[in-house]
Amino acid sequence: MRYAVLSDVHSNQDALEAVLNNIDERKIKDIVFLGDAVGYGPDPNECVELLTERCKILLAGNHDWGVIGLTDILYFNAYARAAILWTKSVLTEKNSKSLKLFPVKKDMKKGDILLVHSTPKETEAWHYLTTLWDAEINFNYFENKFCFLGHSHQPFIIERLPSGELVTYKESASILKNGRYIVNAGSVGQPRDGNPKASYAIIDDEHIEIVRVPYDVEAVQNKMKREGLPPLLIERLSVGR
Ligand code: ZN
Repeated sequence: MRYAVLSDVHSNQDALEAVLNNIDERKIKDIVFLGDAVGYGPDPNECVELLTERCKILLAGNHDWGVIGLTDILYFNAYARAAILWTKSVLTEKNSKSLKLFPVKKDMKKGDILLVHSTPKETEAWHYLTTLWDAEINFNYFENKFCFLGHSHQPFIIERLPSGELVTYKESASILKNGRYIVNAGSVGQPRDGNPKASYAIIDDEHIEIVRVPYDVEAVQNKMKREGLPPLLIERLSVGR
């Protein structure tokens, strides 16, 4: 088993291409995507097309659902809403149809992995899993050994020992025979953990790793300026917040 797990690309084609190059250099064949192909960034069509072409499994996130009308746009803050309305105006019919086909949860029998965008519990309510308490509760809502998720744009690995104790890792973890794991792959296109580099995760039979990849942030910011996207969304890419 060897998978690359991507989440929260958010129309950032430059970050996505940098991550795909990194995956190719490592000769990883199987890529899965946890949702939010669009929203925030300047290249929604390119990102939906590239992800569809390269990923074995694709999920939808809350921004994808906002764009295709399945989540009320009043749910979003003003900046996210502005980006969703702009995305709606440029997304092709074909790509909009693709987004409608993506589920929000997928059980991968091979590898015993659950994939979700938000949380195993009440997946379509778009809760965030940010604390150990959230993790504790959510471990009761799936039976797989592994759950990969995104949504908060903050990468982490949480391990649950047979004793019930939870251990957190920031960069990598060795997989224990009796351990269970919740892994946030972080965000490819809009990291929010203070590190502006694109984030994704790799899992094989023995390890889970969070990988960070630099990309041309300024090029994306210039495209966003040209499209008139909100300044706050442009500025946050430089600082990863
Ligand atoms: Zn997101």
